[in-house]
Amino acid sequence: MTYLSSDKVENHFHDVVIIGSGGAGMRCALQLADAGHRVAIVTKVLPTRSHTVAAQGGINASLGNVSSDHWHWHMYDTVKGSDYLGDQDAIEFMCRAAPRIVKELEHQGVPFSRLENGTIYQRAFGGQSREFGEGGQALRTCAAADRTGHAILHTLYQQNLRAGTHFYEEFFALDLITDEDGCHGVMAWDIANGTYHLFQAKAVILATGGAGRVFKTTTNAHICTGDGGALVLDAGLPVEDMEFFQFHPTGIADVGPLITEGVRGEGGYLLNSEGERFMERYAPTAKDLASRDVVSRAIALEIRAGRGCGPNKDYALLKLDHLGEELIMKRLPNIHELALRFAGVDCTKEPIPVQPTMHYTMGGIPTNYHTEVVYNDADDREKVCAGLYAIGEAACVSVHGANRLGGNSLLEIVVFGHACGERVNDYLQEHRYHAPLNPDCWKAGVERVEKWFVSATERKSDGLRIADVRKRMQAIMQDHFSVYRTEDVMNEGVEQIESLAAELKQARLDDSGRLFNTELVEALELENLMGLARVTAAGALARTESRGAHARDDYPDRDDESWQLHTLARIGENGVKLDYKPVRTKPMSVESFPPKKRVY
Ligand SMILES: Cc1cc2nc3c(=O)[nH]c(=O)nc-3n(C[C@H](O)[C@H](O)[C@H](O)COP(=O)(O)OP(=O)(O)OC[C@H]3O[C@@H](n4cnc5c(N)ncnc54)[C@H](O)[C@@H]3O)c2cc1C
Repeated sequence: MTYLSSDKVENHFHDVVIIGSGGAGMRCALQLADAGHRVAIVTKVLPTRSHTVAAQGGINASLGNVSSDHWHWHMYDTVKGSDYLGDQDAIEFMCRAAPRIVKELEHQGVPFSRLENGTIYQRAFGGQSREFGEGGQALRTCAAADRTGHAILHTLYQQNLRAGTHFYEEFFALDLITDEDGCHGVMAWDIANGTYHLFQAKAVILATGGAGRVFKTTTNAHICTGDGGALVLDAGLPVEDMEFFQFHPTGIADVGPLITEGVRGEGGYLLNSEGERFMERYAPTAKDLASRDVVSRAIALEIRAGRGCGPNKDYALLKLDHLGEELIMKRLPNIHELALRFAGVDCTKEPIPVQPTMHYTMGGIPTNYHTEVVYNDADDREKVCAGLYAIGEAACVSVHGANRLGGNSLLEIVVFGHACGERVNDYLQEHRYHAPLNPDCWKAGVERVEKWFVSATERKSDGLRIADVRKRMQAIMQDHFSVYRTEDVMNEGVEQIESLAAELKQARLDDSGRLFNTELVEALELENLMGLARVTAAGALARTESRGAHARDDYPDRDDESWQLHTLARIGENGVKLDYKPVRTKPMSVESFPPKKRVY
């Protein structure tokens, strides 16, 4: 046990500290708290404000309630959807576990929509088997109307309150406490009270969600700033496949809020300015329910060809009024409200203007399917970082590879939240005591915050404003690393991001208060985003092929010979360093799905 020389840092001891109270963190916490461990959740917002609450369309499981289905088909769809970059052992693990885990959610109290016979309602979503399903499609996405994430998150929160999980709400994780033996805790800042806290734990779990705010237009909440990935980069560990950001085809034009794929699952479709159902040309079989990368590119190409809608010809229309008011209000009430509020459109009467919008972070903290954080050592052998785990959108267990299928992320967070709980439970049987800490371990976290307070007094009028730097970063990423990418444009983007990252050191805080200083939180988040923007830019420029969400005009084809590889990126003194590791093409028990041309 360590006694700190600083009386400014409050100590906390837990068996496990989980950073993040989204679906991943809460599902994991529940498993561990129910097993009798002393579990803390550290979260920068109130638990039920985590981005999981915004998930709309549903969660995939091959229950076969509406059409025939099987986990093996789900696995095939996911491998194909990933454009053969997904790790097939992890994908098999997830798809096999799905029916059990979703029924478990039902028993925990998630109020799923129901079929006439009382079983869970399932709708069609993008990229689901046409090859196998009866009547041409497997209907696999289990839904609670169009508020599935809300239903799951609130249920898991209530279950955690019952199980006695300790919540540290509005605490910002600053720095991981690591040494050569692994990870032993985390330093955090209490946003409301402006105090420092050292959480010592036998295991630390990163469940910090995605990094959508790297881009200007996104469906992601303001809090999705990739903090977990940034903590890992700061600890000298790599992040994986960060060049793969998913653009959802149907964000509300100009503003970004998501219109769920469930709209197309219920029978909605896209139109161009000529009133043509253009997806019939790009994906003759699946049409509007092709996978998201395919539909986003189709919209981008229609706009390029001058067939976009509106005064600037820069969006497509999503038509659903033909579904009828009754179905819309029963299955898609939230969409009706969003369209009215953000586009001023009553979707029971008119189509919704939509554009591809940054939606999901496929890359993240590299883990194996046991959720242990892994890295490659100097001899290129895969090593586990003891006591450190990552789950949910923050992680890259690589079930989504180069493109995620809709409904697979809510599934990922509960499947791997559960798996992580089991794995950490085993780990704790062998690691019964807190590791002794370096007495100075708290310093880096404190310095990370204090330097911003110094900036507030020293750079009064000459420093850059945080909000301005953030806007510039988001614009650079949006303009240079969007749906279509080319070498020239990305080269420029890399240069601009690198110089902006250097300028960030000259930024200042306007607000030097310690209590609830939201500008400070934004500064910390911007540091995190900037690191991730740098590795995204470098990884994208280096990958000379098109795969899933990474589509290049200058390299239009997938190149399995050279590029069936995961990118590993670190940040060192000399900038971003890229390494690669092979995709795990061998599943756990079934035969591998070899790469083939993806058609929908
Ligand atoms: C609008 C929208 C709709 C979606 N719809 C669907 C859908 O229908 N189906 C589907 O499968 N997927 C959907 N997704 C994706 C899915 O919702 C997310 O990938 C998933 O919910 C992420 O869960 P998570 O637990 O990993 O992270 P989150 O729910 O994002 O939670 C992250 C947590 O980390 C905490 N945190 C982060 N940084 C720090 C820090 N520095 N210190 C302390 N705490 C921190 C936050 O407070 C938060 O509690 C949707 C996503 C969006 C944006």
